[in-house]
Amino acid sequence: MINLVLFGKPGAGKGTQAEFLKTQYNLKHISTGDVFRYNISQGTDLGNLAKSYMDKGDLVPDQVTIDMLQAEVEKNPEASGFIFDGFPRTTAQAQALDAFLQTKSMQINACVALEADEDELTKRLLERGKISGRSDDQDESKIRNRFQEYNDKTAPLKDFYQGQNKFYAVDGIGEIAEVTNRIATVIDNL
Ligand code: AMP
Repeated sequence: MINLVLFGKPGAGKGTQAEFLKTQYNLKHISTGDVFRYNISQGTDLGNLAKSYMDKGDLVPDQVTIDMLQAEVEKNPEASGFIFDGFPRTTAQAQALDAFLQTKSMQINACVALEADEDELTKRLLERGKISGRSDDQDESKIRNRFQEYNDKTAPLKDFYQGQNKFYAVDGIGEIAEVTNRIATVIDNL
């Protein structure tokens, strides 16, 4: 079983890469952002709560996100591994994930970070916003706030996973297939 955390700033390509990796390695892809957006589209209580944070580019509170992630894992007892995309985003989430996986005799094998600079990512996000219609991709001040949230709350996870010898940085700039190959090299050497 392989469980991966895909790590990186908004727009780094986590979702795009997860789509290829899940097929290549037969993994279940869980994107917390996608689950929140699905709940928003269905008008659930969780969706309404998440929306108030997502609209500003703020992180959704930890416990709400952790409970949702655990429920998604529980829905897939047959999975031969998971790609966690956009989760964890805080140290509390990473600790909760480790504790939860341990109860299932599972663990994170690697945290793969897609690296790219913020100017490039801002361009990508604004382009994506034109197609996806995501309001948090269409407004530069919201994008800046998402980077701020990342730098304040998510970036420290690099140390968290480095401390467990599970952190792998990959250059996230280049052709999509090239980046997939770089990640595959990391996975194949685990
Ligand atoms: P994403 O699709 O990963 O860019 O996430 C979009 C938005 O969903 C983020 O800006 C947050 O508001 C929220 N979100 C997604 N994942 C998390 C998480 N792990 N913790 C807190 N908020 C999250």
